[in-house]
Amino acid sequence: MTLTFDYDLFVIGAGSGGVRAARMAANKGKKVAVAEERYLGGTCVNVGCVPKKLFVYASQFPELFHASKGFGWNQAEQPTLDWPTLRDNKTAEIERLNGIYQTLIDNSGADLFNGRATVVGPQQVAVNGKTYRVRTILVATGGWPFIPDFPGSEHAVSSNEMFFLDQLPKTAVIVGGGYIAVEFAGILNGLGVETHLVYRGNNLLKSFDREMSDKITAGMRDKGVNIHLQTQITNIQKRADGLHVNFASGESMSSELVLYATGRTANTAGLGLENAGVELRKDGSIPVDENFCTSEPSIYALGDVIDRVQLTPVALQEAMVLVDALYGDGLACIDYDNIPTAVFCQPELGTVGLSEEAARAKYTDISVYTSDFKPMIQTLGGGNDRITMKLVVDQQSDKVVGCHMVGDHAAEIIQGMGIALKAGATKAHFDATVGIHPSAAEEFVTMREPTR
Ligand code: NDP
Repeated sequence: MTLTFDYDLFVIGAGSGGVRAARMAANKGKKVAVAEERYLGGTCVNVGCVPKKLFVYASQFPELFHASKGFGWNQAEQPTLDWPTLRDNKTAEIERLNGIYQTLIDNSGADLFNGRATVVGPQQVAVNGKTYRVRTILVATGGWPFIPDFPGSEHAVSSNEMFFLDQLPKTAVIVGGGYIAVEFAGILNGLGVETHLVYRGNNLLKSFDREMSDKITAGMRDKGVNIHLQTQITNIQKRADGLHVNFASGESMSSELVLYATGRTANTAGLGLENAGVELRKDGSIPVDENFCTSEPSIYALGDVIDRVQLTPVALQEAMVLVDALYGDGLACIDYDNIPTAVFCQPELGTVGLSEEAARAKYTDISVYTSDFKPMIQTLGGGNDRITMKLVVDQQSDKVVGCHMVGDHAAEIIQGMGIALKAGATKAHFDATVGIHPSAAEEFVTMREPTR
């Protein structure tokens, strides 16, 4: 008896990875469905990378207004922010992008179900009251902000709510020391909010190069963010005048808003994965093999839900590798080394390859080249920002194994460095490259003497 299937591929979750996989599979002539219960484009488009970057731009204007004076611009009046305009213009742009995602899915020929899909068993998915027989299921349901449970935690918001606030608060406490905490600290501080960043550890951005994260901490403090390290909140009380935040030290603080940016957990609850015997890790994320297959041979997973690297471009690459494995020649593969990444805090961080600490642990002898200077705009514009660049070189092979930058345009500059490191560039290649003058980026090819 031959089984007939309603779909070759049923994708649960229309985020970056899910939509890319669905479109590519449909382009290969496969019958594909995508189910999405919330919004098209997932976290990145709706409550992540894209609206965040728009808010970062908004928060940078006060420094530009200030700098413009030195370049001869007179401003008759002090500019002020209209939060509803920013919030609503941002939302309109996101809705435009949702529409583009809809068109992309429609044009690929895949069927889109607006509804919550669940796994009924191997090769069976239910959505909107109907069960479908499907050859392959792809779980691309992403992640969801995690807020720890403690007295008063219900008064805290997550990054999701930050994009839709009725009013911009006058004061805010942000908890966490990772990507989201430092990015929102820069945004709120730039928008004029009295911002307190509360982190339980010693070093913000602890998984990054230590020298760079120290520069960021100093730079954020210089811009006005109040950073409280080794600080823990015990409870939050709601009072008539706002939220009362109590710390383990016995101190307390009033704040209009408390944002918890304490990590994200895999979105697998209630998906019915147990019906198909799919194994999960303790934290709910899905372990997969090198082809993104779960413990059930007909069910695959990728993106944030597998909790390898929670970055949009990684999910996109994983989708392309998966579709090639399922419907192509199976030669595509993903290399998790040398993934360039940026943290859009202020000052900004761009990085690719190993931190100095990781390189010291891996190689016998390394050379470190650093450069620290004032960006040119400040000669007339004023301001205290600096730019720091760093190359970490394995002495034996002369290969550049780490490249880091803190300062304006770090993300834009490090993307190109990512290609160089991927290609295995040596320090000699960097030295032989002609700089672009005047630019900040040229420092990366003019660092001649090792710092250590
Ligand atoms: P991260 O994992 O980066 O950071 C979580 C932070 O919360 C850590 O500092 C952690 O502290 C702290 N924390 C965890 N649990 C608690 C707790 N119970 N009490 C107090 N503090 C706690 O998560 P984010 O939420 O910032 O971001 C999630 C992911 O999203 C990132 O890892 C990244 O992959 C992705 N992302 C990428 C962006 C980009 O590309 N620019 C932007 C935003 C997000 P500790 O260090 O002590 O464990």
